Amino acid sequence: MSDPVIGYVHSTESFGSVDGPGIRFVTFMQGCRMRCEFCHNPDTWNIGTGTPTTAKEMLNEAMKYKEFWGNKGGITVSGGEPLLQIDFLIDYFSLAKKEGIHCTLDTCAMPFTYDEPFFSKFNELMKYTDLVLFDIKHIRSDKHKKLTGWPNENILEMARYLSKIDIPVWIRHVLVPQRSDYDEYLIELDQFIKTLNNVYKVEVLPYHTMGKYKWEKLGIPYTLEGIEPPTPERVENAKKLLHTKDYTRYATVTNPKVF
Ligand code: SF4
Repeated sequence: MSDPVIGYVHSTESFGSVDGPGIRFVTFMQGCRMRCEFCHNPDTWNIGTGTPTTAKEMLNEAMKYKEFWGNKGGITVSGGEPLLQIDFLIDYFSLAKKEGIHCTLDTCAMPFTYDEPFFSKFNELMKYTDLVLFDIKHIRSDKHKKLTGWPNENILEMARYLSKIDIPVWIRHVLVPQRSDYDEYLIELDQFIKTLNNVYKVEVLPYHTMGKYKWEKLGIPYTLEGIEPPTPERVENAKKLLHTKDYTRYATVTNPKVF
């Protein structure tokens, strides 16, 4: 028998309530190759650090909280960027599915490619994934690159692919003044989202400065210095332009798939 895959974990949250439906056990994986200017977890960036953990160990830990999940909750993997540790995710979600647990992946999609071996592994992972929380940081590739350090072509391609294979997604968009908070970009993003057939929810996440102290602690210059969170009016405006109220199908993703 081969050795179990080791995942490198930054931290866990036993009662997560914002990363998918219901109450969830959230695992934040260590490692990310993006460098979002608004990142509130720069301590997850380093690759290869974190706590080494097998999928079985992680699931045993998660199962301690199963009674709190009801028929809505489950497990979520977030980050950092969890797709950088796709072998671990396959192990973790496939084990969880055997227990009938609802599995959610929270990703910025940066590692997505049709190249092998990633693409076959990705398809394997999607067999066990009930919901993807899909971050689109900016609809324009050049602006995306400025905001995150990476262009967005492969990210939008992953969104199209998930639509093609009909994996439910919640689109999440961080609203950053002077970066993404312009009507023309929001209208473009709305048009893109409308081309997808698998969107169950669209969320606007107002940029906040709560992670700023972590940048200071790590000695990294804070790139959005002086930029304040968006006003409630701008947040409402973004919700209106992205038609967040039109996406109500998320109620139906609470039923785990059966494999
Ligand atoms: S993708 Fe997430 S973890 Fe990575 S830099 Fe951006 S906000 Fe931070």
